[in-house]
Amino acid sequence: MIPFEYRTPKNLKEVHAALKEFGSDAKLIAGGTALIIMMKQRLVRPACLISLRSVRGYNGIEASNGGLRIGGLATHRDVETSPLVRRRWPVLAETYHHVATLRVRNMATVGGGLAHADPNQDPPPTLIALGATVKATSASGSRVIPLDQFFTDYYETVLNPDEIITEVSIPRLPPNSGAAYLKFLPRTADDYATVSAAALLTLDKTGKTIADARIALGSAGNTPIRATEAEAVLRGQPVKPEAFAEAAEKAKAAADPVSDFRGSAGYKKEMAGVFVRRALEKALAAIREAARSKPARKAVKAIRKATTKGKKR
Ligand SMILES: Cc1cc2nc3c(=O)[nH]c(=O)nc-3n(C[C@H](O)[C@H](O)[C@H](O)COP(=O)(O)OP(=O)(O)OC[C@H]3O[C@@H](n4cnc5c(N)ncnc54)[C@H](O)[C@@H]3O)c2cc1C
Repeated sequence: MIPFEYRTPKNLKEVHAALKEFGSDAKLIAGGTALIIMMKQRLVRPACLISLRSVRGYNGIEASNGGLRIGGLATHRDVETSPLVRRRWPVLAETYHHVATLRVRNMATVGGGLAHADPNQDPPPTLIALGATVKATSASGSRVIPLDQFFTDYYETVLNPDEIITEVSIPRLPPNSGAAYLKFLPRTADDYATVSAAALLTLDKTGKTIADARIALGSAGNTPIRATEAEAVLRGQPVKPEAFAEAAEKAKAAADPVSDFRGSAGYKKEMAGVFVRRALEKALAAIREAARSKPARKAVKAIRKATTKGKKR
């Protein structure tokens, strides 16, 4: 490995100062799971590594205005095991669970994963489907970037060299909605996806018409892809297999994968359509399951309330 300086700032101010000192010769390092490999392969040669590991206060996971806020330094394992995420955004816990192995998830951070910008990663499609935004902070302030406008190419994002991902936010889920993430893994369980698909489906009050949909694909192009045409054909349609099939065709058309050892481009394109249809079906099943269990949850709450009152007397 090429020699480099190593800095361990304790807060964001010190991170900004180090970034200013070294300019584009510096690289932030969080979990190090991606960066160290790239350095060993000599794809990047930073003169200075600025470690984020001692920076406190940016790894929390909390509810906010009905939505979710995740600190940029939270690990994948933090998200996967958060009781709040598991209860309210189970699709997110499931998605982070799909990343690599426990060892990687214990180290890899949410911000580091997004900044790495490998289009084969698991979290971006789900986060895009959920409408996530990224907060990027520099010495001159911070800005909020919708995640579907964040990735620009292989390993490229709109982040400036002096910006740090300090937070990822997910808005409140609309009523009558369900989400799903599916990873096509024909090789081994810890592999990257051959293709992946995430969907957020929202029904209207009757439960018979699709009010809205957000669909995103992974391993299907140079960046994660939001399949906007597939979303458009679903809006206002009755909940029928034909609508899902039409959306799957549009998603297939949006996919632009490369041939590699995980499959030919043609095969991956075909699978993109299949996995979008399945993700929509799974999201619909989640809505129906939630509707079925709602009366039961209400009854449990009523019993608990009555029991507590009885105890107080
Ligand atoms: C063996 C292996 C298997 C894997 N399999 C999968 C998989 O199946 N699915 C999947 O999704 N991913 C997989 N990954 C990739 C993994 O998700 C990434 O390596 C990880 O998310 C990177 O996070 P990190 O914190 O380690 O980032 P680092 O390696 O520390 O940094 C990565 C990049 O982000 C920058 N950076 C770090 N933190 C920030 C920040 N807060 N703000 C701005 N820039 C920042 C760094 O400068 C660097 O350019 C795998 C990785 C390995 C090593």
